[in-house]
Amino acid sequence: MTAPTMAHTGHVTRPHTGAPARTGLAHDDSFAAFARTHIARRADAAYEAEILDRLSWQRLADLGLWRIGVPEDLGGIGGTWADLAEHVADIARTGEDLGFVLSLIAHAGLVRALVEHGNDYHHRSVLPQLTNGAVGATALTEPHGGSDVARTRTLATRTPDGWSLTGKKDHITNAPVADRALILGRVPDLGRRDITLFLVNLHSPGVRRGPAEELLGLRSSPTGAIELRDVALPEPAVLGAPGEGLRTLYDIISFDRALYGLVIAAFLEPQLDKAVGFARQREAFGTPILDHQYVQGRVTDIRITIEIARATARAGIDALVAGDPEASLRCSVAKLVGSEGLVEAAQNLMRLHGHAGYMRGAQTRIVQDALGTLIAGGTSEMQRKNILNQMLASHPG
Ligand SMILES: Cc1cc2nc3c(=O)[nH]c(=O)nc-3n(C[C@H](O)[C@H](O)[C@H](O)COP(=O)(O)OP(=O)(O)OC[C@H]3O[C@@H](n4cnc5c(N)ncnc54)[C@H](O)[C@@H]3O)c2cc1C
Repeated sequence: MTAPTMAHTGHVTRPHTGAPARTGLAHDDSFAAFARTHIARRADAAYEAEILDRLSWQRLADLGLWRIGVPEDLGGIGGTWADLAEHVADIARTGEDLGFVLSLIAHAGLVRALVEHGNDYHHRSVLPQLTNGAVGATALTEPHGGSDVARTRTLATRTPDGWSLTGKKDHITNAPVADRALILGRVPDLGRRDITLFLVNLHSPGVRRGPAEELLGLRSSPTGAIELRDVALPEPAVLGAPGEGLRTLYDIISFDRALYGLVIAAFLEPQLDKAVGFARQREAFGTPILDHQYVQGRVTDIRITIEIARATARAGIDALVAGDPEASLRCSVAKLVGSEGLVEAAQNLMRLHGHAGYMRGAQTRIVQDALGTLIAGGTSEMQRKNILNQMLASHPG
């Protein structure tokens, strides 16, 4: 690996960090280039309008993003989920829009879920839509709470043709614009083990969507409610086996969690470059502020966050791809250190800009966006709980 080079602008140009050897496909930079020339340019407008950038979303699908990791016999180009993750990270690195990337993560989780746990119906009828531009969502949280997902009050009953689903979901990424959603519910007829996952066409009769919620940050990633009233689903709409929803769910959300860590590391890279450039040019006490140790500490800590978030995320994704029983633990670690590190890094970025960092703009937006990552994808408390539970389960007695 070549050493970082210092351009005369004062910015650090690091070697490209993608395409580790563990991925299955040759890495190409077309998604990074697209994100730089399209997503970044549209990011402010999408944020102001509080909408998902559907044009870029469709273009990414056209470029083949959602065929990465999908086996060829299911219409994909093969590779592993690590390949898809690295390309989503590329988009985070050059697209400058964390909200948009969180919407991508929600969709990526659903694509992987269908491939890994889906049946023929999911593979043939739904997957092609999701790889060609339709928007996906995963809906667990309900008005009474999101941490304790096993307490879902969404109910399914059997019908002669399949299932009927009734319930209400809240704060769901992409819900206002999504076409398909994975919905967690329960089938009381199954007895004690009744949690089940259903794939729902959100354009079906009986489905209502709430408006996009007003959030502190992440405004280019619309979240909202999904209400289901006696929604008729075909028999094969169940993802995985009826009653096995929790086990399937843990595998599905683990990928999302590791992705958080990876995209956070990638998102921070150019922010760190810009901060170093700023600290070289801004002077105090007759010298660039970068000469002051406290400022050096801030940029060093951001770099440490990037390294830890990336390494733990890749370890989590590798564990998932390998079917490692500790994958869920590792993915929770990545989510936890990534989101907590991002919040700290966002503060460091803001503080080293002084008052300019507190003016409403790029730095305050990062602070606002960062805070949302502490809650989306499961709170830090829930990541710690999962890490402990997994650890104790693998060290019985
Ligand atoms: C930007 C964004 C996007 C989101 N996207 C989605 C999505 O796509 N799909 C989806 O299903 N949900 C989504 N959510 C919702 C999110 O998953 C939930 O908000 C989260 O799981 C917490 O649930 P809650 O808000 O109901 O808080 P609660 O579950 O009511 O928890 C409240 C507080 O209590 C703490 N707490 C609860 N139980 C314990 C415990 N046992 N020990 C210690 N502390 C505990 C929690 O950590 C939290 O701090 C999103 C949220 C955000 C902010």
